Amino acid sequence: MRAATQATPYPDTAPLLAVRGVTLQYKTPKTLVMATYRVDFEVFKSDRFVLLGPSGCGKSTLLKSVGGYLAPTEGTISLKGKTVTRPGPDRMMVFQEFDQLLPWKTVRQNVMFALQASHRLHGKEIDERAMHYIEKVNLASFADSYPHTLSGGMKQRVAIARGMAMEPDILLMDEPFAALDALTRRKMQDELLALWEETRFTVLFVTHSIPEAIKVGSRILLLSPHPGQVKAELETASTPQEAIALEKRIQHMLFEDEIERAENV
Ligand code: ADP
Ligand code: MG
Repeated sequence: MRAATQATPYPDTAPLLAVRGVTLQYKTPKTLVMATYRVDFEVFKSDRFVLLGPSGCGKSTLLKSVGGYLAPTEGTISLKGKTVTRPGPDRMMVFQEFDQLLPWKTVRQNVMFALQASHRLHGKEIDERAMHYIEKVNLASFADSYPHTLSGGMKQRVAIARGMAMEPDILLMDEPFAALDALTRRKMQDELLALWEETRFTVLFVTHSIPEAIKVGSRILLLSPHPGQVKAELETASTPQEAIALEKRIQHMLFEDEIERAENV
């Protein structure tokens, strides 16, 4: 009898996600909107990779394309060496909006829902996996609560647990804390980092906040304003002094863009 062929593990030294020359356009009845232009970047296993840029520079569009919801007009996106052509459980998304949960399902049922649909686990395994991640985001005592009874921060924690419970290759987060008040936002950033320390998941995180990018990211891709193009790829800061210097540097780079645009008007 032939031994079952085992898939060769994808090497950690190769980029997990490769975005190469990606231009993304929207066709509207009247015009073509170019959201990004020839964007290149690579995300490696356990990176906290941040896409940073002003509103409208195409961050969400890029993330949707990595998610497989939007095909690049030009260029390619590949995950573990395979071209992304459609959404899949290997790329889970967490959005900004608090209404991404199903209101008629409890916290536990919301987290279980995707696991059930994917048919990867069965019976008790699904419940155990869901509870494991609900505990990780400190919501065990709210497992049987409905979303409308939770605060914005708690709802976002459920969305994170739901994404992580699928154990995707990469978690895609689109401004997940942008609609929270400043204090909760900081707390959520800390919690995300603590969760990362524990599990070392790979995350592609979108934000337009420079301090958030510096705090959350291990690497930062700075995008220029509309259409988004790569302006710089930056290593994040490891000391408070470095963080201040990096923040100034990024502000300066974005300010240059504004001056350039004003001169071209
Ligand atoms: P960001 O997330 O960085 O704020 P988006 O990716 O949402 O930027 O948008 C990038 C550009 O694409 C913007 O100019 C926006 O108006 C445009 N855009 C976004 N979604 C659509 C759409 N569905 N149809 C047409 N244009 C769109
Ligand atoms: Mg956006």
